[in-house]
Amino acid sequence: MEDLAGLLHKNLTGIQARIRAACTRAHRAPESVTLIGVTKYARLEWVSELIRLGCRDLAESRTPQLTERAESLSPNVHWHFIGPLQRNKVRRTIQYSHLIHSVDSEKLLNTIDRVAAESDLRPRVLIEVNLSGEANKKGFQKTELLQTWHTLCQNRHVQIAGLMTMAPHVDDPEAARPVFRELAALRDILQAVSPVQIRLQELSMGMSGDFEVGIEEGATLVRVGSALFEGLADLSLN
Ligand SMILES: *Cc1c(COP(=O)(O)O)cnc(C)c1O
Repeated sequence: MEDLAGLLHKNLTGIQARIRAACTRAHRAPESVTLIGVTKYARLEWVSELIRLGCRDLAESRTPQLTERAESLSPNVHWHFIGPLQRNKVRRTIQYSHLIHSVDSEKLLNTIDRVAAESDLRPRVLIEVNLSGEANKKGFQKTELLQTWHTLCQNRHVQIAGLMTMAPHVDDPEAARPVFRELAALRDILQAVSPVQIRLQELSMGMSGDFEVGIEEGATLVRVGSALFEGLADLSLN
């Protein structure tokens, strides 16, 4: 019978092997991709074990759980924030975040910049782009982003480090490919017209169902939740 540590180790090493294989297919160095463990639905003991297994980048989608876990778990973890960010939670969120992936409006970016100035912080952020055209998805529309880019770049305290997107939620991972390819192309376009201090080195794209496609299309960050914790909830039933 498998225990928590054994099963989590198996899941983690399986995902790491798939990341390496995708890197090989794409002629990329394995170090160019960071696996982020999305812990929003994970129990605290699973997260502790994941850290013990060497996973250093973890993500939460809600500020209260982010702050609680950042305060109680290892200080060596890089916490990523990937959820909708309310403007009244910006102060606490930037305090604990290594990177915020989900900046989905000019207003939010301006708020982060203002709060960062007050807190004397230089938070790193990604701009979330809605490329799937789904109305219920968050993020900048592409044309909107191209139009406002120069204004966004004028913020002096946030560091815009790249782009993030969510692919359409369907079973076939290949459906994500055109979306991820478009995000990479958009990054190149924006980089070409950005002020010199802005370096868009990060592409956050790919989740449990499509992270290999993300890597093949240039992802530097993949956000994996359910595949990492698969089967763990059943253990307690034994
Ligand atoms: C939950 C979540 C993930 C992880 O999704 P899985 O399919 O469980 O891997 C990735 N990114 C964001 C923004 C999420 O909210």
